[in-house]
Amino acid sequence: MKNGIYIVATPIGNVSDISKRAREVLQEAEIIACEDSRVAKKLLSLLGIPYSSKSFFKLEDHTEAQEANKLIELAATGKSIALTSDAGSPLISDPGYKLIKQCRKEGIYICVIPGPCALICALQLSGLPTNSFMFSGFIPNKDKARGDLFNKLKDIDATLIFYETANRITKTLQKAAEVFGAREMAVAREITKVYEECIQGTAEELLEHFSKHEPRGEMVFMIAPPTEEQQNQAIDIETLLRNELKNTSVKSAVKNLTEKYAVNKKDIYQLAIKIKDE
Ligand code: SAM
Repeated sequence: MKNGIYIVATPIGNVSDISKRAREVLQEAEIIACEDSRVAKKLLSLLGIPYSSKSFFKLEDHTEAQEANKLIELAATGKSIALTSDAGSPLISDPGYKLIKQCRKEGIYICVIPGPCALICALQLSGLPTNSFMFSGFIPNKDKARGDLFNKLKDIDATLIFYETANRITKTLQKAAEVFGAREMAVAREITKVYEECIQGTAEELLEHFSKHEPRGEMVFMIAPPTEEQQNQAIDIETLLRNELKNTSVKSAVKNLTEKYAVNKKDIYQLAIKIKDE
């Protein structure tokens, strides 16, 4: 096996999803760079791969930059290193980016062994448009940051994909209802596991679902791009706002429109100020 770094995807719930190549690389690699050696050893045991002669190297987000140098030195001096994460594809909301960036700079051999990735599986299950999508990692926990992120992304003409946790999904859906209104959304959970499911609907419908079924397990949250009608509605809102501003103040115009339509107050206010300044 050639010395260098092998980026190895591992199952996200069903151990049978390991690929033949992933199995071979995990078998032959001398070093396993991973988030948690207990998780890596458990996978190797399930795959029947002996690991007593292998070294395990912990890679975490906050220490990755320093650790990368050690791994690069090992790769340069002849070692084969398998980079794994606890589950799924390394580097995708998991450590590895800084290491690979540094490897590229220093001319270290890099090879990818593709396999399960939660965001791709979720999108495939969702029934939402797949021709154009944007992955935005984990949704921030703070309400303001969550709202700011949604507002930043809301006009993007692509399916938006986020990683989310069961204990935050309700707050996320409440904010999504505020910012995205009646846009189609989906939550895919426990993918490749016994209780795999994907629920689709508006934020209000998903909130209703989770009020009856306690949110559990690992999940991916997705928001469809705006339909043509929803895009046109956005344009109409601007026209309505312009008309309002001919007869009334910014404050009254914003009040009138937010009372009548499912629009974000802050956005309408900013648009009103922009129109007034023209
Ligand atoms: N790198 C991994 C990947 O892309 O497959 C993801 C790692 S990230 C730290 C973990 C998040 O991925 C979870 O919080 C969840 O949002 C999502 N996830 C992982 N496995 C999942 C599964 N089986 N079903 C649904 N979501 C999953």
